[in-house]
Amino acid sequence: MAKKKRVLTGDRPTGPLHLGHYVGTLANRVRLQDKYEVFLLIADYHALTTKPEKADILAAREYIREIVLDYLAVGIDPEKTTIYVQSDVPEVCELALLFSMLVTLPRVERIPTLKDMIRDQKIENPSMGLMLYPILQAADILHVKAEIVPVGKDQESHVELCREIARRFNSLYGEVFPEPEALIGDVPTLPGIDGRAKMSKSLGNAIFLSDPPEEVARKVMQMFTDPIRIRPDIPADPDAPHNVVFRYHEAFNDDQAEVEELKARYRQGKVGDVEVKKRLIAALERFLAPIRERRAYYAARPHLIDEILAAGAAKVRPISQATLAEAREAMGLSARPLAELKARYL
Ligand code: ATP
Ligand code: MG
Repeated sequence: MAKKKRVLTGDRPTGPLHLGHYVGTLANRVRLQDKYEVFLLIADYHALTTKPEKADILAAREYIREIVLDYLAVGIDPEKTTIYVQSDVPEVCELALLFSMLVTLPRVERIPTLKDMIRDQKIENPSMGLMLYPILQAADILHVKAEIVPVGKDQESHVELCREIARRFNSLYGEVFPEPEALIGDVPTLPGIDGRAKMSKSLGNAIFLSDPPEEVARKVMQMFTDPIRIRPDIPADPDAPHNVVFRYHEAFNDDQAEVEELKARYRQGKVGDVEVKKRLIAALERFLAPIRERRAYYAARPHLIDEILAAGAAKVRPISQATLAEAREAMGLSARPLAELKARYL
């Protein structure tokens, strides 16, 4: 039987997961786990690139647990999907070091996601670790030889760099790595509740999958609305990209006939923002209530998280070691015993 294709993606433990994650990547991860071998990494080294303080690291350890709960709550099945913490598999750092020789600094400086991150988080002097982050991400993807990377649109440029690294490595040293493809979610980038282009954990503009109902309602009521609409009888365009309340209706309301009806009245100036928002709160509740329920079930069984992460690291680490050995041999570095590793893990 042909081996299943591998899929890898992940999240930084900088906060719990939000609605943007769901439509950008989580829904795809759940879909893919039946057909492919899926790996999810919780990228604690990546979190260090912007949050290296000890207090941040300790907070990240808590967020790792929250994120595992979010995975389980949305339907990731740890029997099918391997979930692991990035720093439990340090071989990936050696691969990243080898890859870093194949990428120029100006190439990294041109990556839009990195530029946005530096701007949005007001980082004046990016660390070397931050500049290395897209290369480490390429190593994350390639150490399991993943071919599919389900990510939000903001990560597309990183996957492009990963493809370049794979091509360059293969052309210099022989065919070792696949050229992975990004799989962008149904909503490539969900905007934030503040109207900013992207909902992000670190920008304070997110509705979290774990938010209680009152919090969801509060956030929706304070959501950015069209600034031209100072009164409900002013006709406006619900399809304008900045009209975030309708973007959320499109993404999460299971009753799209209701959304069409609201849009029609909105165009005519016959519905107030409060009604549009109240209906969104109800729709989000229909979506989030079952997730919340499953989350509570797993939250009451914390030992499961430890077991899942230990099993995940144990499964991925030898794969990582095998790939690293293969890369080293291809490059002409001292080779480690490869044949057995390769037969078992690649
Ligand atoms: P941070 O602010 O710490 O960078 P984040 O909210 O951007 O956090 P990440 O852990 O960086 O979350 O991203 C995890 C995955 O979710 C990536 O694949 C990313 O593309 C996707 N993603 C994040 N935010 C959105 C969004 N608003 N819309 C669609 N996809 C998103
Ligand atoms: Mg991000």
